[in-house]
Amino acid sequence: MDLQFTPEELAFRAEVRAWVAENLPQEISHKVRHALHLSREDLQRWARILGRRGWLGAGWPRQFGGPGWSAVERHLFEEECALAGAPRVVPFGPVMVAPVIMAFGTREQQARFLPGIASGDVWWSQGYSEPGAGSDLASLKTRAERRGDKYIVNGQKTWTTLGQYGDWIFCLVRTSSEGKPQTGISFLLVDMKSPGVSVKPIVLLDGEPEVNEVFFDNVEVPAANLVGEENKGWTYAKHLLAHERTNIADVNRSKSELERLKRIARAEGLWDDPRFRDRIALLEVDIVALEMLVLRVLSAEKSGKQSLDIAGLLKIRGSEIQQRCAELMMLAAGPFAMPLVREAMEAGWQGDQALGGLWPGGAAHCAPLAATYFNYRKTTIYGGSNEVQRNIVAQTVLGS
Ligand SMILES: Cc1cc2nc3c(=O)[nH]c(=O)nc-3n(C[C@H](O)[C@H](O)[C@H](O)COP(=O)(O)OP(=O)(O)OC[C@H]3O[C@@H](n4cnc5c(N)ncnc54)[C@H](O)[C@@H]3O)c2cc1C
Repeated sequence: MDLQFTPEELAFRAEVRAWVAENLPQEISHKVRHALHLSREDLQRWARILGRRGWLGAGWPRQFGGPGWSAVERHLFEEECALAGAPRVVPFGPVMVAPVIMAFGTREQQARFLPGIASGDVWWSQGYSEPGAGSDLASLKTRAERRGDKYIVNGQKTWTTLGQYGDWIFCLVRTSSEGKPQTGISFLLVDMKSPGVSVKPIVLLDGEPEVNEVFFDNVEVPAANLVGEENKGWTYAKHLLAHERTNIADVNRSKSELERLKRIARAEGLWDDPRFRDRIALLEVDIVALEMLVLRVLSAEKSGKQSLDIAGLLKIRGSEIQQRCAELMMLAAGPFAMPLVREAMEAGWQGDQALGGLWPGGAAHCAPLAATYFNYRKTTIYGGSNEVQRNIVAQTVLGS
């Protein structure tokens, strides 16, 4: 196992760093560095900039218009983007549905859907979870009934991240009730502008409507939008989930969040407390260990060994690290991190004045901390809860 970067890989890193420095809009990186609210326009603007360079689908092979990078190059690219303060790429299109369309879609589907994902023009959402079908996803009930050359879809999805912006949604739907629940599921691509689709926001702890309920009321979907074979959707869904979980681990983002934590600890004085520095050091050790694990996975991929079976492990460690980092930032800011003020997430917010003098004088970097902390509670739940990931790791990695 070789964890050193080659001279070519280091040259690649330098090229990416220079390009990102030149092309990432400053107002966007300012928002990312200060954990301020990113609008749809911000996210899509960066996606389109990457798209024009052919880098939005960073993991895509050349044959589908991607850069054809190795896993290591992709890691370096993501690290450089995170360190420069680029927003996370919204994964539903380029990271999640695109690999499924590449692996299991028809040529027509590939020609129709992949260009809009690669350019960042089409926003995708993920329609897996339902009320009563989260961890036990195979019990999902949204029905798609075949009538001629169409499916008629009825049911409800929930927790649909940023579904309010969605142009399209990839859904797991029930096409058969025969046999095991897993064998009656299909993978369907639905235009969210179709009559009968409605989206209702769910406001989370941080006050943001980051997730939604999506309802399907007699929605007509062309049968040509079925990916792969009817009733084989579970296989495709699992393929996608491995990409989702590896993506959630996001060690590069944790590295830039660690720097933010250190800045706050220095500014707020806790950096001088050896017991607090100890906690930062432990976190940093765990981040480095996670990075080593990621590099081992990449090294295995480089030598042709598949590694997606440890996606659950990466997800558990990565999400716990993200939460610990958010907790330490709260501790570092002490009482200044307490008020949850939604307006503080907007660029240009003027603390004290906006609250009529009620803000207790904390520095600007304290203002969004409560929102970040609340928002990060999600990381151990989404993409499959960590409890369930532990079960999967026990079965597939440890073999118990
Ligand atoms: C912020 C956020 C965004 C999300 N975005 C999306 C999205 O875009 N698209 C989408 O489809 N879904 C999305 N989800 C849904 C997410 O995948 C589910 O919340 C997750 O799979 C857990 O399912 P559940 O919420 O139904 O909890 P449940 O399955 O009801 O679980 C409740 C609790 O029981 C525990 N539990 C359940 N079964 C077991 C078991 N066998 N062993 C041990 N413990 C168990 C769980 O760990 C959890 O603590 C999102 C969720 C969140 C919080």
